[in-house]
Amino acid sequence: MSPVRRSALKRRLDALVATADYGAYRAADPVSFVHAYADPADQEIVGLVAALLAFGQVVSVRRSVARVLDALGPAPSRAAQERPLDALDSALAGFVHRVYRGGDVARMVHAAGALQRTHGSLGARFAMDLGDADGDLREGLARFADALRGERPARGLRHLVPDPRAGSACKRLLLYLRWVVRPADGVDLGLWAVPPSALLVPVDTHVHRIARNLELTARNDASWRTAEEITASLRALDPHDPVRYDFALCHLGVSRRCPSRRDADKCDACALRPVCGVWRVAPSRRAREFSTGC
Ligand code: SF4
Repeated sequence: MSPVRRSALKRRLDALVATADYGAYRAADPVSFVHAYADPADQEIVGLVAALLAFGQVVSVRRSVARVLDALGPAPSRAAQERPLDALDSALAGFVHRVYRGGDVARMVHAAGALQRTHGSLGARFAMDLGDADGDLREGLARFADALRGERPARGLRHLVPDPRAGSACKRLLLYLRWVVRPADGVDLGLWAVPPSALLVPVDTHVHRIARNLELTARNDASWRTAEEITASLRALDPHDPVRYDFALCHLGVSRRCPSRRDADKCDACALRPVCGVWRVAPSRRAREFSTGC
């Protein structure tokens, strides 16, 4: 990326963040559930539930997260650490969210409670996994996910807690990391002693499309490689906190203010328009316009 392009991108992304309605975005985002709790141990568990269930329509995600938190009661970390697995199973009997059943969520919550009991916090366990993996985020996160799935996980639990080694973007796990690692800014919580520079951007369809518009990646697939490539582009703008633009970019898409094709009405109001590739005139078209005097 040329210095001129880098400077223009940074200026426009900073403008996007400065003008984003963080209050409204947060209210509609699953991270809002985490902010209802003050105890970091509860925030770790609630964040895990909210991030891992963030799959599908916003309304159904919010309904499902609320149903699980209702089953865990007012102290989710204590429930995770102290309730036997069959009690969690019973409390979540009949729960279904997409391909996940109550039993999948119960096992994940029970495993998370065991990790908190053993290591003091999920953050301490993750820091250990990351250290054991020599700082390799993919392998460190894979070890953490292994511990949350336990042995011989059923299909639903394997989908609920994906394996980063398999190559998918693992958006929900990376979203959870963003929430608990990035400094507290009213959205993210800064709970874990892990440097934000270690994070990768959680790539969903919105972030992927806008990242392609901004030429942060040319890749078509929502894969781990694509998350690495987008993050590498963002790292050129902020090496210490490359995923700081993720929340604003994601909600630009979620709020439907970024259309799937160029739309003058919507794009005129967008801070990113001067650096958006959707509005770049192709050289061949420019030459044609020049020769015909258009
Ligand atoms: S200029 Fe339009 S297409 Fe480009 S990022 Fe903004 S809203 Fe999306």
